[in-house]
Amino acid sequence: MKMKKALINCTVINGDMDREIEKDMIILINNQGIIEKIESRQNIMISKEYEQIDINHQYVMPGLINAHAHLFSDGNPTELSFSEETLNFGIKLLNTKLGKKFIYNRMKKNALVAFQSGITTMRSVGEFFYQDVKLRDDIQNEKVIGPDLSVSGFFISATGGHGAPYLALETDGPWDGVKNVRKNVRQGVDWIKICVTGGVTDAKTIGEAGRIQLTEEEVFAICKEAHKIGMMVAAHVESSEGVRIALKGGVDSIEHGAPMDEDIISLYKQNPNALRGYTSLIPTFQAAYPYALLDRSQTNINDVLFENAKIVYEDMLISFQQAIKNNISVGVGNDAAMAYVSHYDLWRELDHMIRFGGITEKKAIHLVTKSNAEILGVDKQIGTIDEGKRANLLILPNNPIENIKNLSKLSMVIKNGVLFEDLIIKKNERLDFALDLI
Ligand SMILES: [Zn+2]
Repeated sequence: MKMKKALINCTVINGDMDREIEKDMIILINNQGIIEKIESRQNIMISKEYEQIDINHQYVMPGLINAHAHLFSDGNPTELSFSEETLNFGIKLLNTKLGKKFIYNRMKKNALVAFQSGITTMRSVGEFFYQDVKLRDDIQNEKVIGPDLSVSGFFISATGGHGAPYLALETDGPWDGVKNVRKNVRQGVDWIKICVTGGVTDAKTIGEAGRIQLTEEEVFAICKEAHKIGMMVAAHVESSEGVRIALKGGVDSIEHGAPMDEDIISLYKQNPNALRGYTSLIPTFQAAYPYALLDRSQTNINDVLFENAKIVYEDMLISFQQAIKNNISVGVGNDAAMAYVSHYDLWRELDHMIRFGGITEKKAIHLVTKSNAEILGVDKQIGTIDEGKRANLLILPNNPIENIKNLSKLSMVIKNGVLFEDLIIKKNERLDFALDLI
């Protein structure tokens, strides 16, 4: 049994937009890791059963939620490109007992890095051979340290579509889509991830990233089957027409996104086919801006990758600004594991939203905590610091509302009331140096 704790001298930053910073606060945490009380110092006596922890007037905020990430890679950009034969052979090796163990260990390592950087919840949207399901369970059972995971197993894509055949179950036709939902559900996933259009990473021609791959009928059938059991559907989409199809089909979140017209705006806000009657947007700037904005002598990428990244990045930025302006539900994810996206710098996604998307630091913190919790359907448990919610908290020496980069320096991560102070992360200096140029 864990001990009850009293965090004293807390400067509290909550996930809500309408709450101000509260000084000299005390947070009581029960032995189940639930916040019992949050009170100002004057109003409260702490009984002896609580272990007192002096936060020393540092900032306390809700743990970060990464709503779009993958764990199979650490984000180190590789300049190697593999032939199809090598890839086929590699995937065969991974689909063995030893191969799966290798994947699992990599994921476990990346999950720990994410956790040490303040991510206490992560939606992982596409991994190999259901190792995400296993890792989620091991973290839940406290066998492994990491963020709580919400997982989606393999993508569901069109035959030859984004991520196929390696990272996707290939689908042709609505019934095939239904079957693939059932396959993923059988393996224990929490979300369904579909790819409605192509993607930057595997496009072979300029413009292919946004090309429509799944049909509206397929998307509709997949969503209906998932919604039947209360499961939500996340859709990778990189063009406006793709967004339209995905929304009409009833997806619950649009990943990446593209510019909206009036019909698209109203479908986001009121979507009769989405599980909760609306659809959220999760842009992922970090996956696109290094390729689009860094000098190509740095990134060493070919024309196709560069042009597609530029199109997708610019479209994503427009879509994000439209979403904010029109009060569409927006969350934060950074596509960690993609090239240049490490697991320790989700603050860069917020920094990009602030500097290029025009939102405030406070709004950015709201999006990455409370708004993300709502999108993931866990806002009753996490996302703000309130009585009855789980004690998933970050302790920061410096105020992130003054400078969002202050999120990159933590004194402590608390999850379910357990304190973690060993937060030393091995960083990739080459990658950080390049990103600091933008
Ligand atoms: Zn992704």
